[in-house]
Amino acid sequence: MKNARSGRRSTNPALYIHLPFCLQKCNYCDFVSYPGQTATAMRAYCRAVSREIELLAATYRPGAAATIFLGGGTPSLLPGGELAALLEQAATVFGLLSGAEISLEANPGTVDAAKYRLLLAAGVNRLSLGVQSFADDLLQAMGRAYRRQEVYRAYRLARQAGFANINIDLIFGLPGQTMAAWQATLTETIALEPEHVAAYSLQLEPGTPWGDLAADGALPLPDEELVLAMYQEAREQLVGAGYDHYEISNFARPGYQCRHNLSYWHNLPYFGVGAAAASYWQDCRWQNHSSLEQYSAALAAGELPVAERETLSLRLQMAETMFMGLRLLAGINLATFLERFGTDARVIYAAELEWLFSQGLVEIKGGHLKLTERGLPLANEVFRQFV
Ligand code: SF4
Repeated sequence: MKNARSGRRSTNPALYIHLPFCLQKCNYCDFVSYPGQTATAMRAYCRAVSREIELLAATYRPGAAATIFLGGGTPSLLPGGELAALLEQAATVFGLLSGAEISLEANPGTVDAAKYRLLLAAGVNRLSLGVQSFADDLLQAMGRAYRRQEVYRAYRLARQAGFANINIDLIFGLPGQTMAAWQATLTETIALEPEHVAAYSLQLEPGTPWGDLAADGALPLPDEELVLAMYQEAREQLVGAGYDHYEISNFARPGYQCRHNLSYWHNLPYFGVGAAAASYWQDCRWQNHSSLEQYSAALAAGELPVAERETLSLRLQMAETMFMGLRLLAGINLATFLERFGTDARVIYAAELEWLFSQGLVEIKGGHLKLTERGLPLANEVFRQFV
């Protein structure tokens, strides 16, 4: 049931659980993650997350979760028993739709057969491996804590344990990366036959070692043309190998699109638990404390660990629905937009769309507004029109 005037939908939410621990900090990473934590600190954090799950469910009484995503950080760094306990609690307290997708992010070097079996038994049915590259020199430069052979081991053990839905994350546009090195990584990825591949271009953020080096002009980054050519190479190789290019950076075998991330791209409600996690429920969005101390202290005091909360205007929810939805190659279903907001996107964004049509960046096909082939590499320019 929707409420057109507020844009509300009482959809079953997606549930994200943030586990912000890593072996070491990668040189480009600005995610909230804390390397070098003790096992005791990680266990204490899991107890705090468990309290948050209870408090959140008691406060909002959402429907059963449609998907759960254990992300990070490096969730696979935690003991399998802790992860299984969190999943069991979330499923009990929130409820879980039958056939729900339950994903876990894992890094090579932090998994073994026993942990995989435990996670499968706990209900995890989708494994997302943070591979990033098969080139040892690039892995080392990125500050990743494993090498190519450990990627193969992590993947082989996952298949042997019984994972039937595996994603491989890749990054291109790395300092010193050649087209040949990127092609080799794509070839090795495809040879493993994962169900899903995510290929993102390197994003440099201020305050990270690589972000600071780049600002000083001291990072040998490939030029824009080469990065664009790498993106096109990924599309060609992956689509040629039978993957459906369904989101700007995501490719899936038929039936294996990431349902959790589709919730974000469709701008549907989600709850995020854990330090720095964000939630979007009804007309509100809020973000938790990033600091582990503040996060845990709030929960110890019986409060939700919210650092910032904002009420989203209808106009902002519509804008977010536009630019998130345009990330999908299928685009935005204009009838669904009308049903949700009571307004035709073609009317409310008439001026913006007129310009985008004139530039050949978007088109309407089969009732869907979507990026054109020309608009795909210029997607950020398109999204800016709706902000
Ligand atoms: S493993 Fe992921 S979350 Fe952890 S430091 Fe590296 S990029 Fe960041």
